[in-house]
Amino acid sequence: MKRATLRVLLVSLAGLLAAGCAAATAPTPAATPAPGAASPNDVAAAPTPAPTIESDDPVVVRIVELGRTDSRVNPLLREMTEKFGPRLTGSHALMEAERWARDQFEGFGLEARLERWGDVPVGFDRGPWWGRMVAPEPMDLDFITPAWSPGIVGPHRAAAIAYPTSVKAVAKLEDTLKGAWVLYTPAVKELDSSVKDKIDAALVDAQIAGTVRPDRDKSGKLVHTSGDFRIDWGAIPSLVDVRLRSDQHKEILSRIEAGESVELEFSIDNRFFRGPVPQHNVVADIVGSEFPDEYVIVGGHIDSWDGAQGVIDNGTGVATTLEAARLLMAAGARPRRTIRFMLWGGEEQGLWGSRSYVDANPDIMPRISAVLVHDGGTNFLSGLDVTPEMAEAAKEAFAPVFDLDEKKPFGLYFAKQLTPGGSDHSPFIAAGVPGFFWRQSGDANYGFTHHTQHDTLEHLRPDYQKHSAMVVALGAWGLANLDGQLDRTDSAPLGDRRSGVRMSGLTLTEVKEGSSAYHAGFRSGDTLARFEGKDIKSLMDLLPLIRAEREQFKMTVKRKGKLVELDIDYSKDPSAEKRKEREARRRARFGQLEYGEPFAGRAAGGGGLMNLLRGRGGSKAKANAKADDGEAKGQTPAPAGADK
Ligand SMILES: [Zn+2]
Repeated sequence: MKRATLRVLLVSLAGLLAAGCAAATAPTPAATPAPGAASPNDVAAAPTPAPTIESDDPVVVRIVELGRTDSRVNPLLREMTEKFGPRLTGSHALMEAERWARDQFEGFGLEARLERWGDVPVGFDRGPWWGRMVAPEPMDLDFITPAWSPGIVGPHRAAAIAYPTSVKAVAKLEDTLKGAWVLYTPAVKELDSSVKDKIDAALVDAQIAGTVRPDRDKSGKLVHTSGDFRIDWGAIPSLVDVRLRSDQHKEILSRIEAGESVELEFSIDNRFFRGPVPQHNVVADIVGSEFPDEYVIVGGHIDSWDGAQGVIDNGTGVATTLEAARLLMAAGARPRRTIRFMLWGGEEQGLWGSRSYVDANPDIMPRISAVLVHDGGTNFLSGLDVTPEMAEAAKEAFAPVFDLDEKKPFGLYFAKQLTPGGSDHSPFIAAGVPGFFWRQSGDANYGFTHHTQHDTLEHLRPDYQKHSAMVVALGAWGLANLDGQLDRTDSAPLGDRRSGVRMSGLTLTEVKEGSSAYHAGFRSGDTLARFEGKDIKSLMDLLPLIRAEREQFKMTVKRKGKLVELDIDYSKDPSAEKRKEREARRRARFGQLEYGEPFAGRAAGGGGLMNLLRGRGGSKAKANAKADDGEAKGQTPAPAGADK
């Protein structure tokens, strides 16, 4: 449970943190400033004193000098997001951004190419969208429609009516339904899915304009983008699906229920285009001088959701990858092994770009020393979790990073195993490669921007970005120059305790039969009530459990309305034996290891765990969402071979 609890909590706590931030602003489409015009993001480009870093490596000194005085990381990010905007998989914007990124790498002097990873069946581009309540009172609406869902050539103004909860009720309303906006009510949730499907079909037959449902964010301030690309050109969805800020949905619904006649107006320019649409990873190399066939890979995904600009997720990771390449080239770096820069596509649909790369290149997996993935937003890169076997080498590789900036600490932490989940490092870990997701720290609230209308330039932290690009460049340089590859002995994840569990708040919404959590005693539908006799009011109350990583503990859950005391025992986990053996080997070799604090460098301020939660929670949440998608629908895009 410890690991399951930790990760599950990360997911939910990210949500809590997001909910805590209610400083809403209207969605801001990207303004296009005149070329060379100043923007708030240029603040970071102002000249800063550039104390040289103490190093006898001239490349390190030069990277830091350039990174501090002539960073291009923010201009690169701004250029990409303002020129192309969000970069949905299967959109024209992503195609253009991929070519632009390849050209940037080439401009820095790298060998760069696009490698085709597969296709999506139907392309999707999003044009402008807006909506408002017209009567009884004007109100601008904050909403999104899912990608790969239809829009409406508007403005289309019509009455809003409550969702009829039976096919009979639809028949009764027949005359009023045509062209109407149909608002979800809480009763929709109670409907059996087969019944709902029939009602939806009847609503389509009655030619309603579309449905309007509340966004899942209960704080009422966020609207989330999502969407399912698995559609056929011959069966394009026809029902307009408006996801409205939940506070606005609530207000409109209460007006309808009070008998007011409400009119809504929407204009939504969603465009499908016929596929298959070829998809690519951007790949660029600085070829190694001594071990050209060995690799250190740094990167992040270039695709994004399309409800905002895709700046934070994951323009930030694209920009640090590009800038790291530029810094290394400009510093005259000739690494011993090849540094490969990768910008993956299809990440938001389930890590398709990185998965396909791993599947298509089994022969090079043993020769990849490390994969470093930046996909946690704009907080600064503040550490890595490495296994004890690779610790000394990592310490040597990251030596210049520890003292790079006093206010932006960097630490290396012992991990019992590599940690997959949520981003492009995961397929590599599954193939036995040391894959890493950076720790990130700082005061940016990832959950507020993650897949929401707030993923815009205004929430970028240019100072953090400058720092992170240097960390990527120095880390890649250090790893590429080690005498050997990172030691991957005993790094593979053993029995992922997270798998099989999903949570919503304190309730386990799913515990798969046969999973570790199931063996331990949890069941789907349980709501956590007490831990070791103490009431659990929120997930925060479980922090001691996470800290202690306990194998056995007492947990009281509410199960079917009754309190049930469980003796949770994770030592029954089938992987427990292997875990013990691994720990014994480590104790013999390294003695007692401290897992909470960094063994090299410094922890970022504010407490390691909270930083972990703030910095990484969002990604975990995404991992979870992705798992939902992947398991609900089995279809996958067709992988393809390499293709320029
Ligand atoms: Zn991402």
